Amino acid sequence: EHLRGDAPVLVIGLGRFGAACAGELDRLDREVLAIDDNLELVQKWSERVTHAVQADARHLEALKQIGAQDFQVAVVAVGSSIEASVLITANLVDLKVPLIWAKAVSESHAKILKRIGANHVISPEREAGERTAHLVSGRMLDFIRFDDDYALAKMYPPKFIRGIGLSQSGVRSKYNVTVVGVKSPGKPFRYADADTVVTNHDLIIVSGTNSDIERFADLDR
Ligand code: ADP
Repeated sequence: EHLRGDAPVLVIGLGRFGAACAGELDRLDREVLAIDDNLELVQKWSERVTHAVQADARHLEALKQIGAQDFQVAVVAVGSSIEASVLITANLVDLKVPLIWAKAVSESHAKILKRIGANHVISPEREAGERTAHLVSGRMLDFIRFDDDYALAKMYPPKFIRGIGLSQSGVRSKYNVTVVGVKSPGKPFRYADADTVVTNHDLIIVSGTNSDIERFADLDR
């Protein structure tokens, strides 16, 4: 599943999600072929990304003409029509595109996409909603979940680890989380090690399982 980091990417759908994805790929200097059936969007994006083509990707023939079968990676960024998203994904599977990422708007949509052969399914709204819950609870300043049970969080350090070396604080043995990095005001981020002393105004980056991080973030509250 690990393909070369410079393979051209086929992005289907130039709505908010697809356009953001294509734009960022372009910034990363990746070759992008973007497809949308809306001509105005295609024209708007043709100056940004390597190639932009108007086509209805529900039709296998249209995808073949564009050369979709030659791509190693494709992103299906159509959400407003689940029917179109499913048909397009099925077409890419039929064309044997080896790595298909698809955006889902619901749990059932995600299930269907996986079932028909999408390799990775993204649920942006669910993921952003869960992340927002962690942020509004006020305990964390940022939160990234990598898979079901592993996460990184940015937070203010609980009192018991301030002013002493991290190894001395026993944060790992007591809470099963690791302080990965520290950011002092006005200074660049630095990696934490056993001797790192975290002070009152520092921010820390912590890694661990979801529940361990939550327990750790709840201290002092
Ligand atoms: P977002 O929520 O990210 O804005 P949308 O689902 O609203 O995503 O946007 C999907 C985009 O995909 C639209 O620009 C639409 O024109 C395009 N699109 C929808 N159906 C097809 C299709 N069959 N072939 C190609 N592009 C399509």
